[in-house]
Amino acid sequence: MHCPFCSVDDTKVIDSRLVADGNQIRRRRECMACHERFTTYELAELLMPRVIKQDGSRESFDENKLRAGLHRALEKRSVNVESIELLINHIKHFLQCTGEREVAALVIGEKVMEQLAKLDEVAYVRFASVYRRFKDISEFREELDRLEKHLIDPT
Ligand SMILES: [Zn+2]
Repeated sequence: MHCPFCSVDDTKVIDSRLVADGNQIRRRRECMACHERFTTYELAELLMPRVIKQDGSRESFDENKLRAGLHRALEKRSVNVESIELLINHIKHFLQCTGEREVAALVIGEKVMEQLAKLDEVAYVRFASVYRRFKDISEFREELDRLEKHLIDPT
């Protein structure tokens, strides 16, 4: 780390402590050349990757859009709000853990459906029908069969 006073890169950490409830590390450093002291903060970088849409364009991950989609799918289903929030957090965590700068919308959609299937099968089918834009009723039927098999024999 370069000294901000004299730009020499020989600085020494003289003190480290956790701050901001342990989410940051504050370090006191001393320059070995000019002996000035300065402080640096270290923070974990948890970037939310950008979403690559099917048409190739990019947009930022929109938590509210996902929430709205889930609420639509879960309308009149007995799933509490907390479970929906947990699912959203799970997706956000998954995205942050990829470490990728960009993630295909397709990957996110599949992940959401995987989680939704565990939560409520009707909501899952509703979400999947919007998401996958089933071309006709036979495609929709196939999805239902796939789901039924999955529920009987989850692999
Ligand atoms: Zn210096």
